[in-house]
Amino acid sequence: MGSVIDVTIEEGSLTEKKPTVVFVLGGPGSGKGTQCANIVQHFGFTHLSAGDLLRAEIKSGSENGTMIQNMIKEGKIVPSEVTIKLLQKAIQESGNDKFLIDGFPRNEENRAAFEAVTKIEPEFVLFFDCSEEEMERRLLSRNQGREDDNIETIRKRFKVFLESSLPVIEYYNSKEKVRKIDAGKPVEEVFEAVKVIFTSNSEKATV
Ligand code: UDP
Ligand code: MG
Repeated sequence: MGSVIDVTIEEGSLTEKKPTVVFVLGGPGSGKGTQCANIVQHFGFTHLSAGDLLRAEIKSGSENGTMIQNMIKEGKIVPSEVTIKLLQKAIQESGNDKFLIDGFPRNEENRAAFEAVTKIEPEFVLFFDCSEEEMERRLLSRNQGREDDNIETIRKRFKVFLESSLPVIEYYNSKEKVRKIDAGKPVEEVFEAVKVIFTSNSEKATV
């Protein structure tokens, strides 16, 4: 009977578990959102798209809305504290313990700030590798009504990706955390490759 007390104490301190996080990175139009939807269905993750959270924040009429809208229109990276707060809130409200964080971190500062604030390190980084030519084709034909899917902004987003986001992927590559996918293929083929990664990773975790 006394053990009930011990268990309670332990739950409040020692056994409080950090969530499992997989960062999903790749250039604009590389298929992150599409593949995340598939991963959610098959592997029980909660999908958190940083871009979607920022767009929802604009719609909600928050005080940061105008600033966020202007940055997205220019393809610039929104200050870390704004994005991290939205991600933390979504993690807390989800009730799940495993997350795909899509489109974040986008630069070294995003990465370091997220680690410092949450103390969470990603399980691995899923990297969708795709040519600019193919990404541009997809962005210009997807018609999602996004203010940043025009050729001027797309060019800026490519530049930011190369200059600021690729170094984050290189950082995780040096820690052997990157799982690279050839994302230039049709959706179903890409998902076959994604499945292999998530299946072998969960096997490793249960052995
Ligand atoms: N964005 C940002 N920080 C993030 C995620 C997105 O500042 O962590 C902004 C940035 O301006 C980016 C835009 O939101 O260009 C759209 O991001 P999203 O991931 O939705 O689209 P992608 O460029 O990956 O297609
Ligand atoms: Mg997206």
